[in-house]
Amino acid sequence: MPEVLSAPLVVEFPFTRSLGPVQSAFLTGLRERTVLGVRTGDGKVLVPPVEYDPVTAEEIRDLVEVAATGTVTTWAWNPAPRRDQPLDTPFAWVLVRLDGADTALLHVLDVPGPEAVRTGMRVRVRWAADRTGAITDIACFEPYEGDADGSRPAPHSGEFTDPVTTIVTPARLDYTYTPGRAQTAYINALAERRTVGERCPSCRKVYVPPRGACPTCGVATAEPVEVGPRGTVTTYCVVNIKAAHTANLGIEVPYVYAHIALDGADLALHGRIGGIPYDQVRMGLRVEPVWTEGGRYPDHYRPTGETDADYDTYKELL
Ligand SMILES: [Zn+2]
Repeated sequence: MPEVLSAPLVVEFPFTRSLGPVQSAFLTGLRERTVLGVRTGDGKVLVPPVEYDPVTAEEIRDLVEVAATGTVTTWAWNPAPRRDQPLDTPFAWVLVRLDGADTALLHVLDVPGPEAVRTGMRVRVRWAADRTGAITDIACFEPYEGDADGSRPAPHSGEFTDPVTTIVTPARLDYTYTPGRAQTAYINALAERRTVGERCPSCRKVYVPPRGACPTCGVATAEPVEVGPRGTVTTYCVVNIKAAHTANLGIEVPYVYAHIALDGADLALHGRIGGIPYDQVRMGLRVEPVWTEGGRYPDHYRPTGETDADYDTYKELL
């Protein structure tokens, strides 16, 4: 059995969302050291607030200000903080019901160890020094000696100067990725600038890239089949959105990303099309891979100059 590849894989992108009136008031409030909740039809105060009543599904806009002190309702110890977590020392994840609220907010508690945490303990907000209108404006919670005063939360207009209306949330997933036997063989062949798929012993389809099994027949594929290097654009899209990773590679928008059926393959793979104006790319365009020095996969595909492929030759590959 040849060695199966393994490598770190990070999927990371900034997620931009608009906030709407309730979340905008909540996050802008945090910037101003004010914690807002929302009152539901049956009089409960939800913190963090939501836009719709969880019982009646009615829109709710009745904002109230709750205290920056509260009670831990449950917790879990995190002995090894990861990158971008609120604290870089071990901490407790806590659900905190703030005084005046009926629901609990997820955040972190700064204490020396798990023996310093208990359900029912009193805590208060530690505000971040630099606040931007984000949940991280609460740096963390910290232990607090003091009872709730029992007062009802006061109504709040939710109006602030210069409200926060959108936030950018970084999403990041990091894996150790193991592609398995079939894709390891595919990747190793690519390093020699060969594209090798696998044929299904039952339906005879050649899968590129191979997944190790035929999804139609449910049987393992093992027979290696070299395909390409030329192929046919089966379908494509024009990309108009700039992304950091393409900009870093010197790829300007608009550009074309296409499904390409390599000659001999029964599955289209995808790649960027270059060497032709984006608005002249078409279904049936014949292309070939362009490799860069040291590249482990084709940088892009360019037109070969052949006559376009007949639709009937690739209509089953769309
Ligand atoms: Zn099959």
